[in-house]
Amino acid sequence: MQDKFGTRSVWAGEQDGFPEGSSQVPVYHTVTYGYEDLDHWYDVALGKAPGHIYSRNTNPTVKVLEDKMKDLEGAEAATCFATGMAAISNTLFTFLKPGDRVVSIKDSYGGTSKMFLDFLPDINVEVTLVETGDHEQMEAEIARGCQLVYLETPTNPTLKLVDIERLCKAARAQQAISVVDNTFATPVNQNPLALGADLVVHSATKFLGGHSDAMGGVLCGSKALVDKVYHYREITGATLHPMSAYLLIRGIKTLELRIARHNESAMKIAEFLNSQDKVSAVFYPGLPDHPHHEVAKRQMRGFGGMLSFSLHGGYEAVKALLPKLNYAHLAAHLGSVDTLAGPPKVTSHVETTPEERKQLGIPEGLIRYSVGIENVEDLIADLQQALDSLG
Ligand SMILES: *Cc1c(COP(=O)(O)O)cnc(C)c1O
Repeated sequence: MQDKFGTRSVWAGEQDGFPEGSSQVPVYHTVTYGYEDLDHWYDVALGKAPGHIYSRNTNPTVKVLEDKMKDLEGAEAATCFATGMAAISNTLFTFLKPGDRVVSIKDSYGGTSKMFLDFLPDINVEVTLVETGDHEQMEAEIARGCQLVYLETPTNPTLKLVDIERLCKAARAQQAISVVDNTFATPVNQNPLALGADLVVHSATKFLGGHSDAMGGVLCGSKALVDKVYHYREITGATLHPMSAYLLIRGIKTLELRIARHNESAMKIAEFLNSQDKVSAVFYPGLPDHPHHEVAKRQMRGFGGMLSFSLHGGYEAVKALLPKLNYAHLAAHLGSVDTLAGPPKVTSHVETTPEERKQLGIPEGLIRYSVGIENVEDLIADLQQALDSLG
């Protein structure tokens, strides 16, 4: 029987031990590596013997993170990147050529949207973005023919969901590659590959690292597909630094504990906010009245640490409330042990117009709240006093 998640997050990729009996992974601050002789060098270069050639391509510290992540996502292979956007852009540019077509959702992460709206059309890739959650429309667009289907669930900032199993099945029928951004859910709450996705991407900068001190990206999937993106990444040079890999490995060791806490606290905070007069709406997939709650229950083991809520007083109320919070960094970030809060109007969706935000269902008075691992009683008391101060 396979070990459970918490055990694997500590040990996966580390079971063979490290030089000098070191119990923790060494940070290999080296560009190159030596060999016994030229034959050995040649074998390593051809991939016939284990080893490393040049740290833009592979590095022993980074490899431990890749081995850990492929285990946690139930994948055959994984490769790492300097950032989440490096993982996403390298994946898209590896598989999409001029004349190809990609189908995705309107609510993908801001940087990913930029790829779909600017960079891919520039190389003559046709992009079709469907209303997030409209599965019939999505299936119809996929059935028109496409090379790649790109999903993200739950989404930012209104926590919409898409049915991974259903849409990946539609992609498969067209022989299109399906990619799922699993950043918000993490492998603790959701495994897209087990639901039929070909590839899963992460911004490791968020929950995986979990401490707001390192950036990174990860791609997991079959060896054949991951190898293709790896060979592209070797050349684009969007390589993860070994020091960041070390910090991400350390973060992942506590992933299960942290996510259990994020899940539990976010649910309590969502229920608390739902009972407040000054709050006009709460967006959290764990709430029974969330429009995609049934999908959430089917494909997620927990509902995650991200929620958002809007205030009756609109953006003026947001401006008054946020500075009153004692336990929230006001920052464009999420997924940390520290609570973070910010309005999408000035963070993820700063480049959209009020009309575009309205179309995406983002109220002007919306606050995105990334629940940290502080004690939930303190977070609720903090929100209570900030709401009370609105008068
Ligand atoms: C932050 C984020 C990204 C981009 O990751 P970076 O590490 O900032 O490049 C991609 N997808 C989602 C869902 C994110 O939250």
